[in-house]
Amino acid sequence: MIITLSMGCIAQEFDPFIQSKVDELQYDSLFQKLLAFENFGIKQVGTDALDETANWIIQQYTDWGYTNIELDTLYVGQNSTFNIIVTKTGSVYQDTYFIVDGHYDTYNGPGVNDNGSGTAIVLEMARLFKDVETAYSIKFIHFTVEELGLVGSTHYVENTVVPQEMDIKLLLNIDEVGGVAGTNNNTITCERDEWSPTSNNAASAAFTDTLANLTEMYSNLNTDISYAYGSDYVPFMDNGYVVTGYYEYNESPYPHSINDSLSNMDPEYVFELTKASLASCMYFSGAQSISTGIPGDITTEKNIEIYPNPFAEYISVKNITTETLNLQVYDLNGRLQNNFKLSAEATSVIRTKLKAGTYFYKIFDEDQEIISSGKIIKTK
Ligand SMILES: [Zn+2]
Repeated sequence: MIITLSMGCIAQEFDPFIQSKVDELQYDSLFQKLLAFENFGIKQVGTDALDETANWIIQQYTDWGYTNIELDTLYVGQNSTFNIIVTKTGSVYQDTYFIVDGHYDTYNGPGVNDNGSGTAIVLEMARLFKDVETAYSIKFIHFTVEELGLVGSTHYVENTVVPQEMDIKLLLNIDEVGGVAGTNNNTITCERDEWSPTSNNAASAAFTDTLANLTEMYSNLNTDISYAYGSDYVPFMDNGYVVTGYYEYNESPYPHSINDSLSNMDPEYVFELTKASLASCMYFSGAQSISTGIPGDITTEKNIEIYPNPFAEYISVKNITTETLNLQVYDLNGRLQNNFKLSAEATSVIRTKLKAGTYFYKIFDEDQEIISSGKIIKTK
């Protein structure tokens, strides 16, 4: 049998490491971000609300331990405002960036859909990304003054990206992904560059197909492919950079009005898209390729120790908790290989019949919550 693959149709393999991070997402954590965004009010340039929202964004990155936070200041008339750029350095391609962005300003309303939805997704992902090692460097960017004509993103591209000849692998723009309350929001539009210059369009189309594949793999959403327009990716694609984007499929009638509120959108839909976004950002930033590197002994947040790693015949798991835990081992295609019980307050010495190779493990507590996941390697 001959299998032919064409560009854009290359299947992405399911990655248990990505799934394990997606499993860590919490609906309530996302919902609280949307609620906080709504409560700041109308976030137009010159308002206290815009500055308060910016400070709220910065505070969260600071709390999570991010240290590279830049404020890119610009002026609209007499008023200053700024883009927020948070950089996490990659372990292999330090000077090549994967960028995910969403604007945080709003127009005529609280803008919980446009673009509290994108803002909350970027934040919720960044919360979980803190401890994920990536091959490429990542920038999480919260642009300002998108609503008055892509002012913040244009400023950043003209004053930083182009003069520095920044090496950008891909930019994923997330804008207005809240859905419409009372409708069946089961599809997300994935957007590609169909404009001049055309030199970057084939790459954009291929990445957008990949984005759609990953979205369907890690969320319950269907996808639709359309063209990019009218948001912060425009100054990037106009300058030859490769972009993709998410935009709601059921288009809300409320943006740029006082009715762009949490009650008029579908936070469950935003949560599904958060799963898709996290998975895609992990894939594009090379989180999975790093995960096949050499690991070491593991100590989890609950002080469960897994050693040695890599292991030859036996691997030990020290469970100091008072619960019986469950250890599951998966191969790289996500197929369950082994399932072990870990007695409370004991060290289990496990012998497996696995072939040599890389595996992923998940440890579940008695409530079936995942309390640790990661990679182990068997050497022979
Ligand atoms: Zn917007």
